[in-house]
Amino acid sequence: MTTMRKDFLHFSPPMIGDDEIMEVVDTLKSDWITRGPKTQRFEKEFVDYVQAPAALALNSCTACLHLSLVALGIGKGDEVVTTPLTFAATVNVIEHVGARPVLADIDSRTLNIDPRCVEKAISSKTKAVIAVHYAGYPADLESIQEICTEFRLELIEDAAHALPARYHENLIGSSANPVAFSFYATKNMTTGDGGMLTGSPDFIEKARCLSLHGMSRDAWRRYEKSSRWYYEVHYPGFKYNMTDLQASLGIHQLKRLNEIHARRKMIAQRYSEVFGRSPSLITPPDSGSHQHAWHLYALRLNPDTLKIDRDTFILELESMNIGSSVHFIPIHLHPYYRKKYGWSADDFPIAFHNFQRLISLPLNNRMSDQDVIDVIEAVQYLVDKYQK
Ligand SMILES: *Cc1c(COP(=O)(O)O)cnc(C)c1O
Repeated sequence: MTTMRKDFLHFSPPMIGDDEIMEVVDTLKSDWITRGPKTQRFEKEFVDYVQAPAALALNSCTACLHLSLVALGIGKGDEVVTTPLTFAATVNVIEHVGARPVLADIDSRTLNIDPRCVEKAISSKTKAVIAVHYAGYPADLESIQEICTEFRLELIEDAAHALPARYHENLIGSSANPVAFSFYATKNMTTGDGGMLTGSPDFIEKARCLSLHGMSRDAWRRYEKSSRWYYEVHYPGFKYNMTDLQASLGIHQLKRLNEIHARRKMIAQRYSEVFGRSPSLITPPDSGSHQHAWHLYALRLNPDTLKIDRDTFILELESMNIGSSVHFIPIHLHPYYRKKYGWSADDFPIAFHNFQRLISLPLNNRMSDQDVIDVIEAVQYLVDKYQK
């Protein structure tokens, strides 16, 4: 058997450097700790990085998704089509605006939403599609965009995993439709909690107003005496802004993003080189024409050749001091959604079938070369041990 690791390899620890720490301290001493100059700078630098038309820094990707739906006027009586293989936030926000989530099954190669299923899910009430770039591999945007244009639907991208990803040459976030990024602790770059919404300047302006109580920032200019205390509430908005403390982290994480991505890509390639040779394992897509952000390395087990199921595989890895996870428990299996919409496992069979085989291996910038070797050896050991 392989030699046992002495310490536990955590699935996804954050990586905060001295530059981030010094910037936070600088902010704390500056007398401006909430949304202010550093958040503005972070937005500008993010726009430059992903080539976005405009950007708004918020306190989570969930807030970005929610505000997108509100700003686009989606609500009661409307339907929004999305994938079952995503985090709850993608679908919860549809419920928050009073609309109905309609799931469309996934493509078994990429695990992204299948455009053919999107088309079948459309009704006269459909207003939008939320495409998730699962694990950081871009969804089939060309086909989805075509469907959205034909049926006059809004396209929103959940890009929580997709920084930095490219659809062909184009960076995810460079398009004019709403795109929501996450800076949650486990994501490719982090601000602790946080998110960035990109889109057209008009859309971002509306979302900006909605993100701060629906207050108009320019109202004081219209007020006769030009008083700076004056404001007007134009919508019952939310409190979703990012703070300068968070932006202090973001500014420096963004500077490192290329380096972060290069390392993640290298680890993923090492995994795929070895695992790609085993008929018991199915490696993630890595086609040459798109850039995978490598947020997750989602491996699939081939049960036809193995005497071990996914849950036991995870326990075995854990007993070898290697942390792993599952992304995601499909939406239609969660009690709230199952009960409300009467969904059962086989309603979205490709998502369900793949969920049972999925396992996310450690993939992060804290991993040493030896850590990578340990993961590869442990997986190989289990595959050999449990061959049928
Ligand atoms: C993490 C995640 C989110 C939510 O991001 P937050 O910043 O935590 O709100 C949304 N969608 C997907 C697919 C995610 O993985």
